Amino acid sequence: MVKEEDYGKIIDTHAHIGSWSADNVNFSEKTILEAVEEPFEIDLGDETEENEVVAVMISNMSGMDCGVDGIPKQDETECNEKMLKVASQNAKLKSLIVGQPGFGDATNLERLISRHGDDIYGIKLHPNTLRLNANDPLYEPYLELAQATGLPVLFHSQDNYSDPMYIFETARKFPDVPVILAHMGMGDDQNHWYTLGLLQTALMSGAANLYADISWLSPGMIVAALNRADETTVSHLMFGTDIPLGPFGNPDFYPSRIAEVKNAVAEAFDDEEDEAAELLHALFYQNAYDLFFEGREEIL
Ligand SMILES: [Zn+2]
Repeated sequence: MVKEEDYGKIIDTHAHIGSWSADNVNFSEKTILEAVEEPFEIDLGDETEENEVVAVMISNMSGMDCGVDGIPKQDETECNEKMLKVASQNAKLKSLIVGQPGFGDATNLERLISRHGDDIYGIKLHPNTLRLNANDPLYEPYLELAQATGLPVLFHSQDNYSDPMYIFETARKFPDVPVILAHMGMGDDQNHWYTLGLLQTALMSGAANLYADISWLSPGMIVAALNRADETTVSHLMFGTDIPLGPFGNPDFYPSRIAEVKNAVAEAFDDEEDEAAELLHALFYQNAYDLFFEGREEIL
């Protein structure tokens, strides 16, 4: 059952500040705050529903984005201290710290965690920009740190250095660490199916604790994935946007994306009204709450 007080709450599990050369952009937190600061209404079926984004899991792209020299623009300490400073001024922003296997050192992140403790909610890794396959042993100290500190790891996933299979290979060495496949494999639906299959294999066999976020997926693909998902799989899928990248550069796009996804799910599962409501609540709030906030005694 969806708790009355949690109805309409949203946790966005994928957001950024910082520089992204591929799109020639450099974002402050302004666009995100404009999108999420206030509650907003969406049309769901023939009703109006109030929604509020209560938490945004955010990381600094300046620590993933590389210059022409192939080196990250900011090192692990600089980019993450910046992120933590911004988040300390905005209660909804919850920092994930960026790791740079091959350039940095997991001990830098360890120092950040001992300095900032509970202000850190996870570790973000982006194999594409670092041009380092996600199954490289250089990732392991970062996963070891995640294991020791109980933090989830958010991996960019795509059909390249960030291949979900490579991520799975690393994740299965640390089966206790929740590893999120961002954008469920990115690209086209074939990539999404491949990634969903791996996720389900990992969960069913207990080989790795894989999650995925649904940023960039079409509403049709989200519905199709939910149709093929058992309860365990559903509990490992989470809403995310990648704001402020792509269309999310315009804060007005934000509620329309939420409305689009919620309406698609509600229509597809409308035979059982509760089922649709439960699914939406799991996807938009509860799963992320359980992963990032359980045991923190933090009111969202
Ligand atoms: Zn990202």
